[in-house]
Amino acid sequence: MAPVSAFIDSNFHGGAISLVSAADVRGIELRLRPDNASEFAQWFYFRVYAPRGLEQVLHIRGVDTAAFPKGWLEYRACVSADGQDWRRTETSFDGSTLTIRHTPTTDVTAYAYFAPYSAEDTQALIGTAARDPRVSVDVLGLSLEGAAIQRLTVKDPRTTAGRPPLWLVARQHPGETMSGYFLEGFLARLLDPTDSAAQALLRAVDVHIVPDINPDGSRRGNLRTNFAGANLNREWDRATPEYSPEVLAVRTALEATGAGQLLDLHGDEALPYVHFIPADMPAPLLDRRAKFERALMEASGDFQTEHSSTLGGPNNPRLLSHWATRNLGCLALTLEMPFKDNANRPDPLYGWSPARSRRLGADMISACVVDLVK
Ligand SMILES: [Zn+2]
Repeated sequence: MAPVSAFIDSNFHGGAISLVSAADVRGIELRLRPDNASEFAQWFYFRVYAPRGLEQVLHIRGVDTAAFPKGWLEYRACVSADGQDWRRTETSFDGSTLTIRHTPTTDVTAYAYFAPYSAEDTQALIGTAARDPRVSVDVLGLSLEGAAIQRLTVKDPRTTAGRPPLWLVARQHPGETMSGYFLEGFLARLLDPTDSAAQALLRAVDVHIVPDINPDGSRRGNLRTNFAGANLNREWDRATPEYSPEVLAVRTALEATGAGQLLDLHGDEALPYVHFIPADMPAPLLDRRAKFERALMEASGDFQTEHSSTLGGPNNPRLLSHWATRNLGCLALTLEMPFKDNANRPDPLYGWSPARSRRLGADMISACVVDLVK
């Protein structure tokens, strides 16, 4: 059979790949494209145009030099015909090349490291929530490229206590798109007037949410950094207007309100488990953390405490959660969701997915209630 060529496109929000050759759809040659101003490479998102029904074999070469080479072990790529339903497809890793195989039923197929979350998705999340009279939206500052760092504030008029709010921050690492889906589930339940736990939480504290602290990185398809190459989750005690204004904007708002609890939402490239990263904190906060984790395990079949990563160190004030514990005295936790799957409850069709991220977000309300509602 004569080779059939393909067309590869990644020139859209979040797109990232380097094309070497698309002369043969059964051997498309690709390389990862690093973040625009740093060495980090792992995220990919692109579309393949080729006649339906032909098996597509994609070789992404040199992935052993990616940010997290262990991320390729047992990894399966995400594939979608419509940009909505993202399923896993056959993927192998030989130590340096990631090979993805898929036979599409349409002439255009999207491939991604994980289901993408676009600026339009973020705006829909904000706009949907903002229809609720309890929700206000403001802009905390601008990114290096001038994009708005938006905040949602959920405030029940019946709340009188004036206690420090619950904060959630997403997309410090823009390629960790599961945090957007997490927020969809969290907000849908939080704003459900028939949900008694959500009502109780909102009567106890206001909730402040930053759905995308790194809009430049999200748009450019970066895994971990902003336009200047800053890893925002290593900037909290040293942010500058030139290098990390996104952190300065959110930090100023955080210092203005304080925080009763803070959740920093992430994805873990290597570990196939939902977990909080370890953190040093004073004994009363450790007790709260243990109680919070027990409550989350009860609420969510996906959360566990046996496996966790130690990236960044347990007491590094450059990380948001550690900075917040130290400077705001709050229970601050870095949540990691898997890129691969939850090895305790594997899903052969979807792996870890938008739906499961939403479910975890909804379940998180139950744990927040246990910690914050006295
Ligand atoms: Zn992260």
